[in-house]
Amino acid sequence: MPRQVPIEKLRNIGIVAHIDAGKTTTTERILFYTGKTYKIGEVHEGAATMDWMEQEKERGITITAATTAAYWKGYQLNIIDTPGHVDFGVEVVRSMKALDGIVFVFASVEGVQPQSEANWRWADRFQKPRIAFVNKMDRVGANFFGVYEDIIKKLGAKPVPIQIPIGAEDSFIGVVDLFNMKAIVWDGDELGAKFSEKEIPAELVDLAQEWREKMVEAIVETDEALIDKYFGGEEITVEELKKALRKATINRELVPMLCGTAFKNKGIQPLLDAVLDFLPSPLDLPPVKGTNPNTGQEEERKPLDTEPFCALAFKVMADPYAGQVTYFRVYSGVVKAGDTILIANKGQKQRVGRILRMHANQREEITEVYAGDIAAAVGLDAVTGDTLSDEKRPIVLEKMDFPEPVIAMA
Ligand code: GDP
Repeated sequence: MPRQVPIEKLRNIGIVAHIDAGKTTTTERILFYTGKTYKIGEVHEGAATMDWMEQEKERGITITAATTAAYWKGYQLNIIDTPGHVDFGVEVVRSMKALDGIVFVFASVEGVQPQSEANWRWADRFQKPRIAFVNKMDRVGANFFGVYEDIIKKLGAKPVPIQIPIGAEDSFIGVVDLFNMKAIVWDGDELGAKFSEKEIPAELVDLAQEWREKMVEAIVETDEALIDKYFGGEEITVEELKKALRKATINRELVPMLCGTAFKNKGIQPLLDAVLDFLPSPLDLPPVKGTNPNTGQEEERKPLDTEPFCALAFKVMADPYAGQVTYFRVYSGVVKAGDTILIANKGQKQRVGRILRMHANQREEITEVYAGDIAAAVGLDAVTGDTLSDEKRPIVLEKMDFPEPVIAMA
């Protein structure tokens, strides 16, 4: 099976929030828009898979996947489950290792809450790029700009609104897209509700212009070529602005900021677009470093299919039917079902049995996994933190360290 999605169109992301801010609702809505709908009879990988899923259904077993694959505009998002409570320090570290970028969900009334603050520190420590989504814009007291101030004050970050809300509370109807200076207005509250592009409401034109100017200034400040253009009075295109914001987000200089209400299905599609536009693909990341266990020398692996295979097991779950399921993130190379690999930190050869990709409501058996992607192996005897590696080109990736949480829970 050839590579289905090019590596630059992969996004390994986590969705992080203080409890009750709307992480579950946002994730569900994202899966609604991006989930691969499963039709029985369309899977040809063999009866075993089907039987297994049928049995699972009959027994009513549902196991939360550590990673769910989702699709948006030709991109594949691997949504990595992140724990809600920071006191599970080890769990946070595991998920932080596997993901490349984070959607931070804030509540429009409460703003930055203690768990977001603690998780933000974790994300700093692991150098993860972020975008901010201000949810619950329909709530009484919703205050997008208050959350903006809060992010600056409490998190010391540089948020950059790329939208401003149109209305608030009951009258929250859409957002102004500050790149294109158009209003995006939803036509209803249903799932999948369409939106239309309209002119910015007259009473918001000045405010939109003010925030566009702030956005442009924040972006050009991070890019020398654009600064020159800006002060030279030259026109800067939307593409140039987005490209520079992407770079600044990946370098963790800026945090693009959006808003909506997950509950009422407003704002999810632009949020997904922002994930594609601003969060990194595995190709944007530096090569991983590790040690060759035979020579003790440090080696690197680039995020390319042509490099020797290496992957990190970041979550091992007991599945009542399948047995042990090992979620792994491939950093380089390709692994196929049936391959013999090395658990390099233990010097153990093992055979990769079946490989699964987890979707919102089904599991797909796949034959190989390529650089940058995440999948689950059935039947491996591995533990979290193990390096899975090419047999002949062994590498042990940096050990999973479990640092102390940076701040205590309030
Ligand atoms: P989590 O704890 O962060 O996963 O939060 P949930 O997604 O479970 O949401 C917490 C509560 O807020 C639930 O009752 C949701 O229905 C509600 N909720 C989520 N999003 C919104 C929203 O945009 N507006 C309003 N008014 N309520 C929301």
